[in-house]
Amino acid sequence: MNEIIKLSAADLAAKLRDGSVTSTQAVQAHLDRIAAVDGGDRGVHAFLHLNAEEALAVAAEVDAIRAAGGPEAEALHPLAGVPIAIKDLIVTKGQPTTAGSKFLEGWMSPYDATVIEKIRAAKLPMLGKTNLDEFAMGSSTEHSAYGDTRNPWDLDRIPGGSGGGSAAAVAAFEAPLALGTDTGGSIRQPGAVTGTVGVKPTYGGVSRYGAIAMASSLDQIGPVTRTVRDSALLHELIGGHDPKDSTSIDQPVAELAAAAEQGATGDLTGVRIGVIRELQGEGYDAGVQARFDESLQLLRSAGAEIVEVSCPNFEYALNAYYLIMPSEVSSNLAKFDGVRYGNRVLPAEGPMTIERVMGATRAAGFGDEVKRRIILGTYALSAGYYDAYYGSAQKVRTLIQRDFEAAFAQADVLVSPTSPVVAFPLGSKLDDPLAMYLNDVATIPANLAGIPGITVPGGLSENLPVGIQFLAPAHEDARLYRAGAALEKLLEDQWGGPLINQAPELAESSKEGVA
Ligand code: GLN
Repeated sequence: MNEIIKLSAADLAAKLRDGSVTSTQAVQAHLDRIAAVDGGDRGVHAFLHLNAEEALAVAAEVDAIRAAGGPEAEALHPLAGVPIAIKDLIVTKGQPTTAGSKFLEGWMSPYDATVIEKIRAAKLPMLGKTNLDEFAMGSSTEHSAYGDTRNPWDLDRIPGGSGGGSAAAVAAFEAPLALGTDTGGSIRQPGAVTGTVGVKPTYGGVSRYGAIAMASSLDQIGPVTRTVRDSALLHELIGGHDPKDSTSIDQPVAELAAAAEQGATGDLTGVRIGVIRELQGEGYDAGVQARFDESLQLLRSAGAEIVEVSCPNFEYALNAYYLIMPSEVSSNLAKFDGVRYGNRVLPAEGPMTIERVMGATRAAGFGDEVKRRIILGTYALSAGYYDAYYGSAQKVRTLIQRDFEAAFAQADVLVSPTSPVVAFPLGSKLDDPLAMYLNDVATIPANLAGIPGITVPGGLSENLPVGIQFLAPAHEDARLYRAGAALEKLLEDQWGGPLINQAPELAESSKEGVA
């Protein structure tokens, strides 16, 4: 394996700056890696679209600026020239955006998402668009209309979802950085099951402009990386106020990389860490619980004060989420009707009324999981049921926010396992939506409350990664980076390096099958 692809984004950026590696070499190394492991019957299949030509052009531009030196080279963003992969829910000019759906097959966005504008301005070459569950609905990426993504740790297992493509790309060294979106856990749960780092920022901390909306009051774009520091650097790049997003917070991004550096000393003296009683024990794999308990010991040894907190209303979080989220989904996806958006499908016979054309279009364009949620949401919002379902769920949402407020009165950050289980075999939960939904039991409360969360690798159970989640109060994302970097450092001391280096090397031949 080419050593360049093993580097963290921060280390690669340093080599680009000191001239020992060029951006062209870095992009080419990742494209070679993608060619070697992403395709074929047993390839990772993290990517839906590759953007090689443009990525190489951006790399060449960065290399030329660096070679010329002077003020323009000085002014380059610290991550300039470091390649990145983009979840295909985020719209990009010049590259297709499918949202993992047949509905948008072949669609080219006429504009860039705000995060993409920032990435272009900072000159990060975009390698391509990554696979996801259709319109980001799922926990395994198996609901993509474009085939499964495989978990690089075990190719017969799921990479998590909905952002399985971004997490798998980063875990398989196909990209050092990626963007994801998290509505109920779609950055953090894939991070947990692929042994990578993922962050859901505070709601409003990163512009949602140009992220195809799933559930607008829950959605948030965030970083997907192999190290905590890399997430901090990417978060600083994509964060900040955006007048195009009415929910965007009008304040500067905090010093996140500095917080990660502080954490990397491994010293958490004076930090109070609250263990959420309700997010452990029953329903959590024994191996997940064991790694979680060991992580608590490490955090304690780093000087943190470990306290137990109780969030009694978390019991209802999943139920509330599966009313609020589908309600918003049913509204947000109404525009996909073959008239305003999406590929039109005509009814096979009968009159061509607009209702019948829209009906045929939506019947053919959406997959089963998306339809299930639209039906659920439409029902929950219908007159006569609105108060009983949507109204009650909103009340539960308030109770969950109050649980967090009480918990944060006792602790600076909260901690839990990110996912109750490790990566499960492909196909094993596809026919059981409730079993699938349970994967997000620990991640959903943060979305309902609008607070930030990070997942960091916490060791292995049966050779599969376990994720540890930290949560912080709204606007206190920096605390996540400090705590996350501390745990990362303590575990690396134990393992003798990053956990991801323990992942079985993917054979570099997609044709013969990777095993
Ligand atoms: N897995 C969750 C769901 O299916 C979360 C999705 C997401 O965060 N986009 O709704």
